[in-house]
Amino acid sequence: MRKRKIIWPRLHGKEKRFHLMLEIKCFGIVSMLLNQKGKVISLFRKRVISNTAEYISNLYFPNSLILPEQIAVDNGITFNYGYYDDYFDGLIEHKAGGFHIYMNLTKLKRQDSPRSRFTFGHELGHYFLDEHRIALKAGRTPSHPSVTDFSSKNPVELEADYFSCSLLMPETRFRTDCNHQRMSIELIQSLSKKYHTSLVATLLRYVNIGNHPIVVICSKDCEILWDWKSDDFEFKYLKKTHNRVPLTTVTGEYYKNKKRYNHPEKIFAEDWFEYINYERNTYTLNEQCFYYDNFNMVFTIIW
Ligand SMILES: [Zn+2]
Repeated sequence: MRKRKIIWPRLHGKEKRFHLMLEIKCFGIVSMLLNQKGKVISLFRKRVISNTAEYISNLYFPNSLILPEQIAVDNGITFNYGYYDDYFDGLIEHKAGGFHIYMNLTKLKRQDSPRSRFTFGHELGHYFLDEHRIALKAGRTPSHPSVTDFSSKNPVELEADYFSCSLLMPETRFRTDCNHQRMSIELIQSLSKKYHTSLVATLLRYVNIGNHPIVVICSKDCEILWDWKSDDFEFKYLKKTHNRVPLTTVTGEYYKNKKRYNHPEKIFAEDWFEYINYERNTYTLNEQCFYYDNFNMVFTIIW
């Protein structure tokens, strides 16, 4: 959950009360779950979340694209799309015995975009995951603003993100689609198209249940923002001097002189990783990037 500055004078009375209520109360559920050990989701917890989400997907959409709005309707959850400054992407509120989801078009732009679908799935996670719903119902947090841009380190948000990935890309179907397929950017793009999910959400799902160990690194202005690794990826430690992208990598070349590659490039493991138990210049990996010039940002995939 990332707090954004609210410009109070610009808000109407109703909006002021809405945001004030959030400012005061929305952190209850977080402090409750932060007491759990660590900040990453355990494998056991991932399994519970994935199974819960897949059960719901198969119940409502056994053979077709998952429509989170319809799941909300079928469970008596109301929702609306509106413009709520840039404070949150989505928000679920428990009030008068019912649940309501607010979707913020200021951030999401379009109702049917992959990002909107992901945010909706995230809010459903706060409803379908027992611990989240119980806290909401008990009034420990009457509402819960969410920013679904994968930047959160908050375990509650991570769990809801994981739920959303698992709901929109149910495990069995996703694994079947990956079977006998070589890892490639084209595969990620085709999965993203099939499930109507963003490339980033699809990559996150692939990292967790794909059939090839991979690493995804997000960087901006040559600084590493975050990385995800498959559990079975051999090298655990990124080489990051002062959190900077190593300049000898494909990603580094983009930051150094805007050089771009359209195909996977062979790199040596030691270009990106520390503590390699192989002779130098012997263990090769593939590196390929999604480039976002407008933001001077790169998503790097290594496998
Ligand atoms: Zn959330």
